[in-house]
Amino acid sequence: MTVEEMFERAEASMLVECMGKPCRIWTGATSKGGYPKAHIGERYVGVHRLALESRIGRALRRTELACHRCDVPACIEPAHLYVGTPADNQRDRRRRGTANPGLCRVTLTKADVRRLYL
Ligand SMILES: [Zn+2]
Repeated sequence: MTVEEMFERAEASMLVECMGKPCRIWTGATSKGGYPKAHIGERYVGVHRLALESRIGRALRRTELACHRCDVPACIEPAHLYVGTPADNQRDRRRRGTANPGLCRVTLTKADVRRLYL
């Protein structure tokens, strides 16, 4: 996948209401934790990191994380992401009670499933 193809796929991602916030859900591959991933050339990258980098206009440092304000790991909506540290991420997870994933459940319609998998 090229960067251009990744952004095209991001544009075609699914918008869903989750906890009252419109998230843009990545419909491609995800990590075991549910984070959006894509092969760009030889690299396996976090799509949410690229989405945040496009919003802030610079690459994230190795020590910086793309943290979700919406707490939806597959979300790639740039406005829902912020530059954080591992400590920020842990604090957010404790505050939201999301040390265990699965707080947000999205109900897919038959049309959503067709769009995603057929
Ligand atoms: Zn979101």
